[in-house]
Amino acid sequence: MGLKMALLYGGQSSEHEVSVMSAASVAQAIRGRIEVLPIGISKDGQWIPGLAPESLVERGCFEVSGGHGAAADADRIVQNRNGFLLGYLRETVDLVFPLLHGPMGEDGTVQGLLELAGIPYIGGGVMASAAGMDKEIMKALFKHHGLPVGDYLVFRRHEWEKDRARICTAIEDRLGYPCFVKPANMGSSVGISKAHNRAELEAAFSLALNFDRKVVVEAFLDGYEVECAVLGNEEPRASVPGEIVPGAEFYSYEDKYVKNDSELIIPARLTPEQTAEVQDLAVRAFKAVDCAGMGRVDFFVLKRDGRILVNEINTIPGFTKISMYPKLWAASGVPYPELIERLAELALERFRDRP
Ligand code: ADP
Ligand code: MG
Ligand code: MG
Repeated sequence: MGLKMALLYGGQSSEHEVSVMSAASVAQAIRGRIEVLPIGISKDGQWIPGLAPESLVERGCFEVSGGHGAAADADRIVQNRNGFLLGYLRETVDLVFPLLHGPMGEDGTVQGLLELAGIPYIGGGVMASAAGMDKEIMKALFKHHGLPVGDYLVFRRHEWEKDRARICTAIEDRLGYPCFVKPANMGSSVGISKAHNRAELEAAFSLALNFDRKVVVEAFLDGYEVECAVLGNEEPRASVPGEIVPGAEFYSYEDKYVKNDSELIIPARLTPEQTAEVQDLAVRAFKAVDCAGMGRVDFFVLKRDGRILVNEINTIPGFTKISMYPKLWAASGVPYPELIERLAELALERFRDRP
């Protein structure tokens, strides 16, 4: 294809390590097809061109001051302090793959920077990324578009600090226990707890407020977790759905990336009707936030009555070879390296087709 692509990875969020793993997989798979310029973003937000993600898989994260194999890059960083680097990127690459999860990467911030610089990039634009990251806004858009979502309440830090007793009562009256407490803007289950009583609810708020000033509390949904991958711009397609069997009480960060004892079942154990419904809802959820390129839409299929509820969209889903998004496409006839090429084409198309 002769393309040159900058691969932005790492990043400032709590999902830094996940991103490093995704990037290492992508860099390896795309070798010989698309020329990759890896750019690591350290936890303190510095962009380090030329830092290969494969060299970091063991360590997981990096800090510039820590000085490892990339110490030689340190001088370049100072000169390259992000603004300069963008100009350089504009001259030298055809597009950017922001393979960053969580705030400061998946939430529209980096997308905005790339928009300003006029560089095509993979995935959703500024608005889709921001809306997909913010669970309150995402749910509001889903509801606006008639998609089924579970019951929930949203609170801000200052409300919690003023009157936590009232908030606890409101949650108990409306949602009951157990309930899920989440920072509005985060991913990979970071900061999420399942609260079974008032004491756990209070602890759950303290934890969630470490990550965001806004907290979403949801009614517990007793269901199977089903995920569907979406690919495309204006006419996106849905993959075969997959299913996650969590190894712990819920699909926690530990479970996702540390213990690895959750199980992926592809295709999901659904009836043909349920499969069609999941795929239809996945495409509608993708369009509801006006996403582009890729998105993984996650569902609960309730054990009680088989009802399907949309949980969330992830605009930059986990992207290692064994992550759900690539595996769903592999099972749907799009192998991993081709998937990356397809995403690159979609990114270029989107920029070309602009008014
Ligand atoms: P993240 O964006 O961090 O992945 P999720 O909303 O997907 O956040 O929540 C992470 C996990 O927590 C889910 O995969 C699921 O296992 C569990 N979970 C979240 N919300 C609920 C809920 N309302 N009912 C039951 N389980 C939930
Ligand atoms: Mg998420
Ligand atoms: Mg999730």
